[in-house]
Amino acid sequence: MSNEEKILSSNFIRNIIADDLKQNKNEGRVHTRFPPEPNGYLHIGHAKSICLNFGIAEEHEGGLCNLRFDDSNPEKEDLEYVEAIKEDVRWLGFDWQDRLFFASDYYQQLYDYAVMLIKAGKAYVESLSLEEIREYRGTLKQPGKASPDRGRSIEENIDLFERMRAGEFEDGKYILRAKIDMASPNMNLRDPAIYRIKKAHHYRTGNEWCIYPMYDFTHGISDALEGITHSLCTLEFEDHRPLYDWFLEQLPIPCHPQQIEFSRLNLSYTVTSKRKLNELVTGDYVDGWDDPRMLTIAGMRRRGYTAAAIRDFCERIGVTKNDTIIDMSVLENCVREDLDKTTRRVMGVLKPLRVVIENYPDDQSEELDAPYHPNDPDMGSRIVPFSKVIYVEHDDFMEEPPRKFFRLGPGREVRLRYAYFITCNEIIKDEHGDVVELRCTYDPETKGGNAPDGRKVRGTIHWVSAEHALDAEVRVYDRLFNDPEPDSNQHDRDWKEFLNPESIEILDNAKLEPSLSKAKAGDQFQFERLGYFNVESKNSKAGKPVFNRTIPLRDSWSKKR
Ligand code: ATP
Ligand code: MG
Repeated sequence: MSNEEKILSSNFIRNIIADDLKQNKNEGRVHTRFPPEPNGYLHIGHAKSICLNFGIAEEHEGGLCNLRFDDSNPEKEDLEYVEAIKEDVRWLGFDWQDRLFFASDYYQQLYDYAVMLIKAGKAYVESLSLEEIREYRGTLKQPGKASPDRGRSIEENIDLFERMRAGEFEDGKYILRAKIDMASPNMNLRDPAIYRIKKAHHYRTGNEWCIYPMYDFTHGISDALEGITHSLCTLEFEDHRPLYDWFLEQLPIPCHPQQIEFSRLNLSYTVTSKRKLNELVTGDYVDGWDDPRMLTIAGMRRRGYTAAAIRDFCERIGVTKNDTIIDMSVLENCVREDLDKTTRRVMGVLKPLRVVIENYPDDQSEELDAPYHPNDPDMGSRIVPFSKVIYVEHDDFMEEPPRKFFRLGPGREVRLRYAYFITCNEIIKDEHGDVVELRCTYDPETKGGNAPDGRKVRGTIHWVSAEHALDAEVRVYDRLFNDPEPDSNQHDRDWKEFLNPESIEILDNAKLEPSLSKAKAGDQFQFERLGYFNVESKNSKAGKPVFNRTIPLRDSWSKKR
């Protein structure tokens, strides 16, 4: 979509920003940010937020979007995640240029602001235990009651807070709380925590700090320090907005971003929570964060989903405040549509069945010219060798085929794509009774796929010359879960029990047309009649590449349901 089209296919956030610009709010600036916490890899839900934040900045002249790591949880964060997130954002097609920020760079500033709140009588050091704090907090129906520490003098608060910072106390001994309103109907305003003691090593600041600011305090101040105009976040923060605003109203920062909430992306047949994805990785349910079955950006990239398809998907699902579940097929169809436009068509046999063409000369082979795309001559063509022994797909043969099976069976004639008609005359079985070879004859008059006598065949199948075939491993993936809502609270079973045991099938004996020996890691193809495949970079070996099936040609799940 062009920028003009995007603005036309508007969403409520674009409308708010357009209105703000009309009124020259923020001196006409548009400045957003994408604020991941580096505690895991990004997933398809984050892609929605990235496309929204970076997309909005791109649509406006002079618009800016920061990449900011919201890193105030030392125990869970890591540089590995920072690097992975940067790679993913870049791969999706967005550029933060020189606007890379870390909340941890604001630790001193945040500390100074906390001291300011104490001095203004708007924060105090709490000595109650977490359990007591919970008790004092009240419920949705009952107002909270004031802690005995709420009246502590400013001097004493300053002294205690400085000593917290100096490392004098153990974790949990004290916290710093904002002094707002213990009777507020919004629980977030009942004197929320601002700082906690945590004697933990931080991946960036090391052991410099032993107190860490809470998310709500850190996030809004970070936004304001960066001059963000519109702070877009997911709906669960709606009830935190009054707190976001409260901090910024108390502090002397000359910028007050507008927080706007939208609904998070939920997708069927998957989980979009870093915590759960982390559980799959650490529990070895999958092969790392970039397992091609994971809906992480790294996983989708490894599987062959394209950045263009993911961006298109994010645009199509739109941005609203309605909590819905998007069907996985919407994403899969975006991938199909994109790959249909861009990939070359080739032939590969995943489960080979040997076919000997008895009347074809023993030492002969032919080079057939085959276009890479039926309707796009610009894609060019390649040579496909044909010879006496070929492989066809095992599934394209049935010993006792029903009438409508237009493929190979005893006595049946089919067309070999780009080559000849063949007829199956004899079936060879092994000692277990399994079909291991077909004896066929070809009609030399049908070269190119048409019979001069006008005789028709209904089926056209793909094949690969045995002598010329490239050996490959092909990994066929399916959805990771076999339930549309594995983590729905309607289930009384653990969400991991809905993992699909057939989500990966490794076909170790695939035979591909020889042109694919030139394919490089990441290259993508349509294997005719089968689907879209890419060359896997992680496990490929010289002479034996690994291909991933990105997606089959058609949506078989909709049918199954
Ligand atoms: P998770 O729940 O998976 O841990 P998170 O919200 O804790 O996600 P963050 O790193 O804090 O992860 O998220 C960075 C940004 O991405 C936030 O602005 C968040 O609102 C947004 N985001 C996260 N998940 C989704 C989602 N499913 N749909 C849309 N935006 C999301
Ligand atoms: Mg979060």
